[in-house]
Amino acid sequence: MYVNVLIETRVKSNEMTFTYHVPLELSKNLIGKRVLVPFGKRTVEAFVLEYTDFDNTYEVKDIIKVVDNDPVLNEELIDLGKFMSNKYLCPLISCYQVMLPKALKANAKNNNQVKSLTYVKLNNDVSTSNIKIKSQLEIVNLLKENKEVLKSQIKSKSSLKKLIENDIVKEFKREVYRNVEVYSNHMNITLTKDQISVSNRIKQSLGLEKTMLIYGVTGSGKTEVYIDVVKEVIKNNKSAIILVPEISLTPQITSRFKGVFKERIAILHSSLSDGERYDEYRRISRGEVNVVIGARSAIFAPLQNLGIIIIDEEHSESYKQENNPRYNTLDIAFKRSKTHNCPVVLASATPTIESYARAKKGYYDYLELNKRINQMPLPKTSIIDMKKEVRNGNRTFSGELIQRIEDRLNKKEQVMLLLNRRGYSNYLMCTNCGYVFKCPNCDITLTFHKTSGMVRCHYCGYAEVKKDVCPSCKKNSISQIGSGTEKIEEEIKKEFNGVKVARMDADTTSKKGSHYQIINDFNEGKYDVLVGTQMIAKGLNFPNVTLVGVINADQSLNIPNFRSSELTFSLLNQVIGRSGRANKKGEAIIQTFNPDHYSIVCAANHDYVGFFNHEMFLRKKLNYPPYCFIILVKISSKDFECGIKEAKKASAFLRKNLTDATIVLGPSMANVLRINNNYNFQVILKYKKEEKLYVSLKELIKIYEGNSKIKIELDFNPINL
Ligand code: ADP
Ligand code: ZN
Repeated sequence: MYVNVLIETRVKSNEMTFTYHVPLELSKNLIGKRVLVPFGKRTVEAFVLEYTDFDNTYEVKDIIKVVDNDPVLNEELIDLGKFMSNKYLCPLISCYQVMLPKALKANAKNNNQVKSLTYVKLNNDVSTSNIKIKSQLEIVNLLKENKEVLKSQIKSKSSLKKLIENDIVKEFKREVYRNVEVYSNHMNITLTKDQISVSNRIKQSLGLEKTMLIYGVTGSGKTEVYIDVVKEVIKNNKSAIILVPEISLTPQITSRFKGVFKERIAILHSSLSDGERYDEYRRISRGEVNVVIGARSAIFAPLQNLGIIIIDEEHSESYKQENNPRYNTLDIAFKRSKTHNCPVVLASATPTIESYARAKKGYYDYLELNKRINQMPLPKTSIIDMKKEVRNGNRTFSGELIQRIEDRLNKKEQVMLLLNRRGYSNYLMCTNCGYVFKCPNCDITLTFHKTSGMVRCHYCGYAEVKKDVCPSCKKNSISQIGSGTEKIEEEIKKEFNGVKVARMDADTTSKKGSHYQIINDFNEGKYDVLVGTQMIAKGLNFPNVTLVGVINADQSLNIPNFRSSELTFSLLNQVIGRSGRANKKGEAIIQTFNPDHYSIVCAANHDYVGFFNHEMFLRKKLNYPPYCFIILVKISSKDFECGIKEAKKASAFLRKNLTDATIVLGPSMANVLRINNNYNFQVILKYKKEEKLYVSLKELIKIYEGNSKIKIELDFNPINL
């Protein structure tokens, strides 16, 4: 008997299955399990994909050992991997590796992560009637009452030891799950008429392969709609996946789900330990839960009998994986929806231009929640022209923002301030000679972090101690340009004596649980002001926040990306939506140097449709998605000359092999030419329909296979361009 197995080889290609012979004693039910096989001079772990007839043309080796008792990949996941590999032209093995928790990946360092505890119980075959010693009797009585007790809970260790020696008490181990601590929020909620109507529309679609888009303004109560629908799904003996963008979003939504679905829910978020993740994963694959809530990779949760997939905040960039395999979670959801005949529900207050356009065209069912639960209007939003403020000497905070913050502090209400840049200052420059501190490995300026006294590269992680003397002109004239969240925190404290400020960004949330701590403390009123990056913009629900300030709305407008207006609109809309979510009226202030920009004006007016129309007009004129598809071909090399040469070749190859229906742009330099000492170039493909696309791209990949000097990667419908 023979099997085809998948091995991670050093030469990354799409063809990595190898045939092995299966010794008779190992032959049963191997599909989806990991096996140990000899491979060249090494022994490696491989996934068994299928049984095969051997055709005797070459010599095959034996499988050494079967690693798993139960398959780690079920039939659906095996198929899904092949689908991904074909769709994104990425190595099949990378697709399986990304689906699995660490302990179940091939060649995991530590793949026995099962946690077990030692229990004790009475040996029923032995009489306890002649036990006279008091401490022993106590143990016996305890075990009579409770049958099984954790060994660690028994105080008198020596008596227990005696009882075990005399065979009166037996000890045994039992596998346990690590307890993922989640706060559980119970509420009795009666759905509003609008919520019921949206929920009913979704319920009517259960059992159908279709996509539905909920356009729901911030605070319209989408979470309760999901819960209502998922209850129905469970009633039908099916299961549900709910995806949320980021860990920052999960505490509040997960606690609501936990409150309703109790132990029938598994939570997969990025700050779980490997062991916790492994346990949650096993609960899912053993069919012990019927609801999974988690970030991107939870789309691969091996639930049987899926009844619905809900993607909350569907516009979020985090649904696109930015390294291999560069999958889009929505694609995977659509594929699973087809397999299980179940609907995909996308929801957002700012759907992507692509999703909204599809809903308008009727490809998706369109649902709307256009009012806030509290019946309040959306926050009244003012735009402040910072050009004027700067002339008046207000660099960071406008007069208006200061005044409003003061007002909230007096009323004991809370404020959120967004600045989408962490660190203290953007970069350091010598005001004498113009020298700018840059990363030695990347073409990027270093960001100053005052708390640690370091300057850091946000691309490669390079860090050094901040210098006060210019390395170039040796003058003492280093100046900090621009502000980050650290500086905002500092300045707001200077401005208002005694104000309590929390900061939430990648620097303050790197420790496990710190995220939740900040959210919780702010929610309990331990802080007056929360300063943060885009992390604070999404999904959070603080009833006492009545003012949101955006320090510099131009930050995201100025990134070189055709989506920059969309990203700006969506970020502003989301963060404004954090204001006035309970029974107090909310306000927002946007500080900008571009007060007339349509994405800022539309965000202030809560005008999604206005924004959509303007953006669609531009996308059409400039031929960008949804009017075409884009593929980014990335070519990188440590050697600048070699990189350019090969990028030109790749571009010429694509021009020659693709039809006229495709526009081939470039090669050009990537937005950041050098990252981690690799030079990055790109070729952009724009097309609507291209019959020779896959053949040509596959051929291109083949050309560079095994070439250690050049790396070619494909990004289908990239987020960053
Ligand atoms: P969204 O995700 O649409 O921004 P949420 O689901 O966070 O909104 O709901 C906003 C707030 O309204 C939450 O505090 C939620 O508990 C509350 N809420 C939702 N539905 C109802 C309802 N039917 N009755 C009362 N409160 C509700
Ligand atoms: Zn760097």
